[in-house]
Amino acid sequence: MPHAEGKVAAPFRLRVAGQDNSYGGPGLSIRGMPPYDVIVLGSGPAGLTAAIYATRANLKTLVIAGAVAGGQLMITTDVENYPGFPKGVQGPELMELWRQQTARFGAEFVDDNVTKVDFSKPPFKVWTSDGVHEGRSIIIATGANAKYLGLPNEERLKGRGVSACAVCDGFFFKGLDVVVVGGGDTAMEDSLFLSKLCKTVTVVHRRHAFRASKIMQDRLFKTPTIKVIWDSEVIDVLGDQRVEGVRIKNVKTAQTTDLKVRGLFLAIGHDPATDVLRDQLRLEKGYIVLRPHDGFSTATSVHGVFAAGDVHDFRYRQAVTAAGFGCMAALDAEKWLQGHE
Ligand SMILES: Cc1cc2nc3c(=O)[nH]c(=O)nc-3n(C[C@H](O)[C@H](O)[C@H](O)COP(=O)(O)OP(=O)(O)OC[C@H]3O[C@@H](n4cnc5c(N)ncnc54)[C@H](O)[C@@H]3O)c2cc1C
Repeated sequence: MPHAEGKVAAPFRLRVAGQDNSYGGPGLSIRGMPPYDVIVLGSGPAGLTAAIYATRANLKTLVIAGAVAGGQLMITTDVENYPGFPKGVQGPELMELWRQQTARFGAEFVDDNVTKVDFSKPPFKVWTSDGVHEGRSIIIATGANAKYLGLPNEERLKGRGVSACAVCDGFFFKGLDVVVVGGGDTAMEDSLFLSKLCKTVTVVHRRHAFRASKIMQDRLFKTPTIKVIWDSEVIDVLGDQRVEGVRIKNVKTAQTTDLKVRGLFLAIGHDPATDVLRDQLRLEKGYIVLRPHDGFSTATSVHGVFAAGDVHDFRYRQAVTAAGFGCMAALDAEKWLQGHE
């Protein structure tokens, strides 16, 4: 991701719905075509890994890549924890390579969003702006998007000190002062994680109490390098080329203060991309609930529909774990299809 010194993103080809797709041709409408063995929804680490395993198992595979393909790593710069890249890799470059690898085994791509699904009976149906596509099995890998505050300079300084992933980016802030926004368990976990790397961690919370579990709060309060600013909101991010500070407003007194820090970490939750799945699958707080059965650990509440990555995993949220889930979902789908010829 972002380097504290402010690296800029490497150039990459952003694939946008409606544009030509050099890896698989434009979206295929299913009219008159036999169903795909597997339709993968999403082209982040989970979706592309699922498609690699599915195609290499000789399954006819369609990837509905999303209107802006590649997933969350497309908006980050340095990725230093993905195995196999000793010098690190730029997020967009990693996803470009990943997609090339997927295309090599014959996966077809549609660079569009799924707008509607019907999982009531197989073959399962998914709609894009091209029409409807049918699959004998489905792997959902639509991810989850981190929530940001929507501040005036936040977007501009993303990857230059503003981050929504402490585990991914904390290392870039070694020995520096940072702010964490949030009051739940994730904010506590992120602050404790950052306290092992950063000089100081200041948690800014808009209420006078955290909603995090007591045990996590106790750990946080016992850490000498973490301090808390209560009843306050971050109202702007300061800095030209990189984060130099944040502006904080006390919600009770309306007084504003500027705090000199090099990093702003948001820990205010994620929005799983499951809107189109409502009423079709069991969801909890928007995340897909896995319902393992018959040895299929990535199974959902609908037999033949599997899930992989951040769309169900609100705990680990890493590229490597998403890829692992993608592999598992493809192996599950393949085995499930064997029993449903
Ligand atoms: C700023 C930032 C930096 C990060 N840095 C790192 C890092 O350094 N190392 C690391 O391991 N992890 C990092 N992560 C976390 C990592 O990016 C995620 O854990 C990982 O991308 C999750 O993969 P995924 O495939 O489950 O979902 P995503 O990457 O979110 O991909 C979801 C895909 O689904 C598509 N989609 C969404 N809705 C639809 C729809 N309706 N129809 C079709 N497609 C849809 C999207 O377009 C996208 O292609 C970072 C995250 C962020 C936000």
